[in-house]
Amino acid sequence: MKRVNSLQRFMNTRAGANCRYQPTCYEHAANCYTHAFLIVPAFVGMALLHRLSDDRWERITAWVYGMGLIALFLVSTVFHIISWKKSHMRSMEHCFHMCDRVVIYFFIAASYTPWLNLRELGPLAAHMRWFVWLMAAAGTIYVFNYHEKYKLVELAFYLTMGFFPALVVTSMSNTDGLYELAFGGFVYCLGVVFFKSDGVIPFAHAIWHVFVALAAAIHYYAIWKYLYRSSTLEDIRDV
Ligand SMILES: [Zn+2]
Repeated sequence: MKRVNSLQRFMNTRAGANCRYQPTCYEHAANCYTHAFLIVPAFVGMALLHRLSDDRWERITAWVYGMGLIALFLVSTVFHIISWKKSHMRSMEHCFHMCDRVVIYFFIAASYTPWLNLRELGPLAAHMRWFVWLMAAAGTIYVFNYHEKYKLVELAFYLTMGFFPALVVTSMSNTDGLYELAFGGFVYCLGVVFFKSDGVIPFAHAIWHVFVALAAAIHYYAIWKYLYRSSTLEDIRDV
C-alpha cells in the first residue's frame, strides 16, 4: 500500500533523468500566480525608468531592460498556464517550455545591460555589451537542440551566463550599487536550490519563482537608484 503523508497531496514523485517533473494542481496554480502578479509591476518599472531617462541611450536601455523583465514574467506565466491546462496542447506546451528556458538567458543579458550601457567601461570591457547577447543566443541554440537532455549542463550554462559578465561590472571604477548587484545574485543562487528540488520540496518551483522575483526586485532597485535616479538628481543640482 502506498504510504500517504500530508505532503504528498501537494507534490508528485521526482522525475527521472531525462523527464520533466509533473506538478500537482496546487503546484500548477502556485507556479502561475507567483509570476502572473509581476507582469504589471514589470511594465510600471519599465515606464518609470523610461521617464527618468535623460537621453536616448538611457531610454533605449530602459526599454531593453524593461522588456527583459516583462518577457520573463509573461512567458513564464503563459507556459505555466498551458502546462496546467494541457491535455490537447502537448506541442504548444513543449514550445513554451523551451521559450520559458530561453527567456532566462535573455533576461540575464537584459539585467546586465543597464550596468554595461550606462557605466563607463574600458575598451576591452566594453565588448561585454554585445557579448552578453551572443551568450544568450548560444544558450537559445543549446535549448533548441538539447532541451531537457543534459540538465546539469543547462544549469552550468545559466550560472556561467549569470556570473561571467560580473567580471566586467565588478571591475568598474564606479562601484555604487555593486553590493545590491551581488546580493541579488546571491538570492538567485539560493533560488537554484529550489529550482532543482521538484518532487523533493512541495511547491519547489513556485518558491524558485519567488526567489527570482526577489532578486529581480533587488537588481531593479539598484538600477533605479544608482543608474537612473542619481543621474536625474545630478541634473537637478546642475540647474
Ligand atoms: Zn517557472
